[in-house]
Amino acid sequence: MPGPRPFVLLSAAMSLDGFLDDASPERLLLSGAADFDRVDAERAASDAVLVGGNTLRADNPRLLVNDPGRRAARLAAGRPEYPLKVTLSASGRLDRALRFWHTGGERLAYSTDAGAAALRPELAGLAEVVALGATVELGAVLDDLGARGVRRLMVEGGSGVHTQFLAQGLADELQLVVAPLLVGQERAPRFVGPADFPGGPARRMRLLEARTVGDVVLLRYAPKEPAPVTEPHPVNAAATGPGAPAGADLRHLRRAVELSRRCPPSRTAFSVGAVVVAADGTVLAEGFSREADAHDHAEEAALGKLPAGDPRLRGATVYSSLEPCGQRASRPVPCAELLIAAGVPRVVVAWREPATFVAETRGAGLLEAAGIEVVELPELAEEARAVNAHLPG
Ligand SMILES: [Zn+2]
Repeated sequence: MPGPRPFVLLSAAMSLDGFLDDASPERLLLSGAADFDRVDAERAASDAVLVGGNTLRADNPRLLVNDPGRRAARLAAGRPEYPLKVTLSASGRLDRALRFWHTGGERLAYSTDAGAAALRPELAGLAEVVALGATVELGAVLDDLGARGVRRLMVEGGSGVHTQFLAQGLADELQLVVAPLLVGQERAPRFVGPADFPGGPARRMRLLEARTVGDVVLLRYAPKEPAPVTEPHPVNAAATGPGAPAGADLRHLRRAVELSRRCPPSRTAFSVGAVVVAADGTVLAEGFSREADAHDHAEEAALGKLPAGDPRLRGATVYSSLEPCGQRASRPVPCAELLIAAGVPRVVVAWREPATFVAETRGAGLLEAAGIEVVELPELAEEARAVNAHLPG
């Protein structure tokens, strides 16, 4: 049984032009002493630290907690002196001479079945090697770490690893340090490579903090959370509502379907995502089923993030991957009634609720009877339905 997945913190430092390093064999030092100390504290606060195999080969890092006081505090709290050190290598080509294997706490290497066969004899006595099948899937890595009791995982690169965590929507926090220098070399590694990041360039992350540390700036983001709605999102500002460009409706509904994939699994309820978009195209709130509580519905979770009576709702469109419920078993007020009470004039859905959990589905009927425009975009029906393919009926 996989345990709960750890909280994933991505940590990186980059130049002003977005590079992690220059193209020379020597590692470019981007941070100063104050920031290295900050990173040391983050490691000390983590149960495990992870770097990719490429970074091990290129930089030969030790990944230690250097401050003796922090190590003592870990021991005093009943934790191991050092966090577990984790690496990923599909090929299994990792040299036993690397410093990673000879310092600090326990070591763990995830590989493919074929890679693990090569790696086990190489690392005998130095590290545990875990075979994950034909590929090294990050989801499987997080499940395994969770089962080992890892609650906080710090990911320290490199570029490929950061790209994968962000593209797969698996990072809970990003700590990005920007150093005041320009690398300017085409072949230097970038912070992230090209990828299909969730939401694409239109999606703005929530900024948690901006802090100067010596001569660098630390930016902390919550990659899974959209930027707060009080700030305008110029990139998102495509008008919605009747007569709006079909592209904007499709884009927001696609986002709702994407959110539906984040729902904690359930055999007794649909997985639904919802996005509330103001008339000017500003994304006001997002939600998904079981987001905070096992009984949460997506529309309910999204509306619940806005102040009651928010005047922007009077011109908003609510995008839901599934027709809002007209009756429900879990709570007294169905989402259709929540939408009516909120004064939302327009609802866009990907598919109609099948009679899986309630005898009569009448959410759209309720909305229409209240004068709300209900638009169905069948282009996304199959995608939205596929998220619920495991349910009966
Ligand atoms: Zn509902």
